[in-house]
Amino acid sequence: MILAAAILLMIGQACNTKTEKQEIMESDKNELNAIFPKGEKGSEEFFTGNAYSIRLVESNSIHTTLAGNVYFEPDARSHWHTHPSGQILIITDGVGYHQIEGQEIEVIKKGDVVKCPPNVKHWHGASPDVGLQQLYIIPNTEQGIVEWMEPVTDEVYNAK
Ligand code: MN
Repeated sequence: MILAAAILLMIGQACNTKTEKQEIMESDKNELNAIFPKGEKGSEEFFTGNAYSIRLVESNSIHTTLAGNVYFEPDARSHWHTHPSGQILIITDGVGYHQIEGQEIEVIKKGDVVKCPPNVKHWHGASPDVGLQQLYIIPNTEQGIVEWMEPVTDEVYNAK
């Protein structure tokens, strides 16, 4: 009996240890490794929730290209929008969502590269539990940068 009780106690301790490790790993997932300064909080006119952006490359006559970084806290996302010359996203940390109108939400994560074609209505942002850090590149800025539209409703966001 004593031996059985001791074994049960050991099993119990082993389970507890595993649970603690899992919790630590899960909390680590929510901490993104910042590469660039966080930048300015995005306007409620264009974003739902807490999003921060910083411009890294300004467009000029030699390079008609914009590049910058956006950090979305969990649950934050852009409003629907289009880019006249398209956009390239490079995900540098976290987990997020990208959706082209009429298509399913696509999960995007660290290391992914996503191309948004010109004039295609879409949105991008964090997942509900983990933030997203993304670089954006907008080429051919002489054609325009972004056309903002309506917010992404909770119904659309939670459809994933
Ligand atoms: Mn976009």
